[in-house]
Amino acid sequence: MRVLIAEDEPVSRHMLEAFLTKWGYEVVVAGDGREAWQVLQQDDAPKLAILDWMMPGMEGVQVCQRLRERADHPYVYVLMLTSRDRKQDLVEGIEAGADDYLIKPFDAHELMAHLHAGKRILDVQQELISARDALRVQATHDPLTGLWNHAAIFDILRRELERAQRQRTSLGVVMADLDHFKQINDTFGHDTGDHVLIQVAAFLQESLSGSAFCARLGGEEFCVLVSDVASDDELLLFAERVRRGVRELRFGGRDQPRVTVSIGAARRLAHELTAREAIVRADQALYCAKRDGRDRTQLGGPEAMAVAS
Ligand SMILES: [Mg+2]
Repeated sequence: MRVLIAEDEPVSRHMLEAFLTKWGYEVVVAGDGREAWQVLQQDDAPKLAILDWMMPGMEGVQVCQRLRERADHPYVYVLMLTSRDRKQDLVEGIEAGADDYLIKPFDAHELMAHLHAGKRILDVQQELISARDALRVQATHDPLTGLWNHAAIFDILRRELERAQRQRTSLGVVMADLDHFKQINDTFGHDTGDHVLIQVAAFLQESLSGSAFCARLGGEEFCVLVSDVASDDELLLFAERVRRGVRELRFGGRDQPRVTVSIGAARRLAHELTAREAIVRADQALYCAKRDGRDRTQLGGPEAMAVAS
């Protein structure tokens, strides 16, 4: 664990550095408040800071105040060192945002105990952050395939539509539905069905460029958003690459299922369709692809009714 020591008094600074290094901490040293503030602004700054109260340039308590004014940075646990033992100073330090304080002179055991307390708080905080991140992933991803889920892809669609509008580009919505998927589940069992879904999802993700997003909408239906699609032909080309790719996927031995996919795609030009309309248009195209025999791509749109199979 990295710890910042900010102390202007050299003997005290060296002593702190020697103790912490001996106890296995990785130490970053600052000789005054300004230097400490610079260190704390760096990416990957230490999460625990020992700040001396009285320092030239900027006092420890000011460094602490600035730390607490930042909203979008990881929390830094502050242990304030002070030789003043007047109650009023300690109150001021805590109000400035210090988590703990030590009154000089202190001995090594005292320092170690206070560092352990700080580390415990930071560990708990890290667990909370990890739990929150895991919840966020759970709320936005399909657990089976790891793709975006239904709710998340609609948020992304809205965001990408706004971006397309601003940049006057167009966005492709591709709906892909595996053909006769129920038969796969019925014939080979649900484990195989799940395996197929996972493999198809992995293939879709591989086929994406940097500006595309892929979701499992539920069941055997997938949705791909492709940004900056220059023409209907370009969208059709992408959809066809997906369709042919899925048909070529292999899921094991000779008896294993072969899978095909029907695709409906629509391109949304700036100022034209709303998110819902783009989805509906792609969905209608998908319906036509299914109706007309499956394993085919249908481009939806008032003028463009290109079809490939
Ligand atoms: Mg000092």
